[in-house]
Amino acid sequence: MKAAGLVAGAFLLIVGLADYSYFQNIINGYQTTLGQIGRFFSPQDQAAYSMSQTLAMVGIVLSVFGVALLIYGAAGKGKKETHMAELNGYETSQRSHHQSTIRENKIFCRYCGRLRSTSGSFCSECGKGSESSTTNLKGCIHCSATMSEDSEFCANCGRKF
Ligand SMILES: [Zn+2]
Ligand SMILES: [Zn+2]
Repeated sequence: MKAAGLVAGAFLLIVGLADYSYFQNIINGYQTTLGQIGRFFSPQDQAAYSMSQTLAMVGIVLSVFGVALLIYGAAGKGKKETHMAELNGYETSQRSHHQSTIRENKIFCRYCGRLRSTSGSFCSECGKGSESSTTNLKGCIHCSATMSEDSEFCANCGRKF
């Protein structure tokens, strides 16, 4: 969408400038002394002259639109990249936060996903025990830690299965 705006902007700018310079040339021709006399005597020349003025104006308008589209496209693109960088930064800080808390003897509860202490056999947040009802295991798709199959959250990274 933004790239399309840039292409359309460049296209309008080129067409607009070409249009303007073409008709400005004609206008210059009519503005010579000879051209002015011709216009005075010929209504056709007068009509062509004012038509050229209008079309040169259209060229200017097209160019202005083209420049506006280019600026809009470039600004939009920049904004998107900044936004992505912010998102990446947020994601990284969240992850390192998780990892540092795990080092402080805390894990994520397999049932409610909240941080709980590794000591004690019951979660201090939801009250469920840490023993699992099955010996089957499954891997976390986010951090590839292995959890018992009845886990609803990954105890290592805290994300929902
Ligand atoms: Zn819990
Ligand atoms: Zn995980």
